[in-house]
Amino acid sequence: MANLGSLLVLLINMFISFGAFASTMSIDEHTPTPLNLTPWLMVTHSNGTSQLADIQALSQTQWHKFTSADIQRLNQHNFWLTVNLSSGDESLSRILALDNPLLDKVTIYHLVGNLLIDTAYMGDSLSYKQRPLLSNIFLYPFKINANEQHTFYVHIETEGSAAVPLNLWSANDLAQIAESTAVEHGFQLGVLAAIGIFSLFIALASGSFSYSYYSGYVLCMTLLVATINGFAFRFLWPNWPVLQQLMVPILLPLVMAFALMFTEKILQLKYHNRHMLLICRYSAVYILLVSLLVPFVRYGTVLYIEIVSVVILSMILMVLAIIQAINGHKLAKLYTVGWVSMLTGACISSLLYLGVINLSLKPQTPVMLGLTFEILFMSLVLAIRYNDERKAKLRIQQEALKQAQKIRSAREEALKLEADTNERLEQMVQERTLELEITLRELHEVNQKLTEQSTIDSLTGVKNRSAFDKRLLAESRISRRQETPIALLMLDIDRFKSINDHFGHLAGDQALKKIAQTLQQHLKRPTDLVSRFGGEEFAIILPNTTAQGALKVAEGIRDAVTSIDLEWEGKPIPLTISIGVSADIMASDQHCTELLEQADKALYQAKNNGRNQVKLYVPARAEPN
Ligand code: GH3
Ligand code: MG
Ligand code: MG
Repeated sequence: MANLGSLLVLLINMFISFGAFASTMSIDEHTPTPLNLTPWLMVTHSNGTSQLADIQALSQTQWHKFTSADIQRLNQHNFWLTVNLSSGDESLSRILALDNPLLDKVTIYHLVGNLLIDTAYMGDSLSYKQRPLLSNIFLYPFKINANEQHTFYVHIETEGSAAVPLNLWSANDLAQIAESTAVEHGFQLGVLAAIGIFSLFIALASGSFSYSYYSGYVLCMTLLVATINGFAFRFLWPNWPVLQQLMVPILLPLVMAFALMFTEKILQLKYHNRHMLLICRYSAVYILLVSLLVPFVRYGTVLYIEIVSVVILSMILMVLAIIQAINGHKLAKLYTVGWVSMLTGACISSLLYLGVINLSLKPQTPVMLGLTFEILFMSLVLAIRYNDERKAKLRIQQEALKQAQKIRSAREEALKLEADTNERLEQMVQERTLELEITLRELHEVNQKLTEQSTIDSLTGVKNRSAFDKRLLAESRISRRQETPIALLMLDIDRFKSINDHFGHLAGDQALKKIAQTLQQHLKRPTDLVSRFGGEEFAIILPNTTAQGALKVAEGIRDAVTSIDLEWEGKPIPLTISIGVSADIMASDQHCTELLEQADKALYQAKNNGRNQVKLYVPARAEPN
């Protein structure tokens, strides 16, 4: 009931104060908090005046009621607000709260009656520690005694958003709400940061561009939200007000650029639509170029350009996603859901800010919920895409593996074929080589036979004259080296002419053959050599044989020839031979010729002596004197 009563008082107060200058808001311990002071706020745009005295001296007509028109443009703002509070019978402790952490400079002049009792300086262009109460938003605690009237002049100098949600809090209520707000913000930032860092790790581990852009988007978004909430100034850069001024216009384009690049990857525009790809890329470049304006152009102007750009680009992204979704791309459909949820949140928040709709929600809640949902949803989309890609890669790998196996087996077959062919070829070469070897051997044998035949006398089958000459030279060299005697037998058939004459030449040839056979059979040593010396003459070489030995052999031969029993047409052919023998140890190559002459001489003697006998060459003795 008490609460209802105080609400009634409040409404009446509001009604009375409508249209009046510096109407006073009276409060007591039952006035509910937070109490929105906007209806009691008077405003003046002071044209650069910054002295309290000048403001106090202004006439009533120079003040008007504070409306949203006063803060609408993102511009350079410099204005003064004033509000009067009066207390009832009890003294109270209250806190003035200005819930816009981005205001550059806020100066609160606290007057009791007309007496200035305190001046507080706040704003994010000043170091965080200067604030009377250390909080993300600007808080000014004060005490109001019973039946006192307090006047507050609030001088605001800022660029960008000049929203001034001014509320009056009791310490208890503020503590409660501060706690729940801190939990809410902490949770939101925690979720965003966790997703951002997680995606960053995945990006680093996998080298995936999609995850890199996504983590860039989420982390920049996290920092942007933390900056707008005042958390970043409080915890990250409390002593760097300059940074606080720069962060929003730098982070906003970064968020948008990352969103564009990420979208390009998610919608796979590279493969599906080159025009859309170019739109995304040029837009990203454009928005990053806008951020370069920060040091050169006024904060409010840059922020204005950026916000307009971001709104337009978000719409463009939305359209691209919807077109791709209509074209039947699964990821584009999911992407659209995420993006729509965030834009919806942003729209509801804007409508709440503008007062078009009225919900029992803080204006930033829908956009934060939309954003959180969008980011969670996008990470799902990304995971699906990653999985799709992984599967596609796996398929390609398996295909490549199959191809490789095919190639390998084909190569193995080719190798086998080659090996088989080689083996066959080798076999053929071996066969041919064998045939060739056989032929060569046969050729060699034929050659040998030919050579042999060329040394043989065709009629008698004993060695011929040239073979005799070669052998005589060779044996005479051995004799000379070994100093062994060599013997020569020169044989001539006796009266052969008459045999021819009597029996005919065929009979003569037969006799020649028979005698040659007898000679051959009679010689036992393998080194002994019989040859036909010419006509009906034979010559025999007896290596390593003395004159006596040779005489013996010659005698044996002569005897054997005499015993030959040769008949021609029933008539016996008498056969005898005369033999000349010479023997000596050779002293030179010419010596063998001498030996031959000596044997011939001995033969001559044997003929002269009556034939059918053996004669040893005896050198003529020197006549004794
Ligand atoms: P001598 O006792 O003095 O040796 O009397 P000879 O008749 O044997 O002497 P000569 O040397 O004058 O005669 C050799 C003859 O041997 C001449 C030729 O008719 C004969 N003669 C030479 N070569 C061959 C041959 O190959 N076949 C035949 N059938 N007779 C040959
Ligand atoms: Mg003769
Ligand atoms: Mg003769």
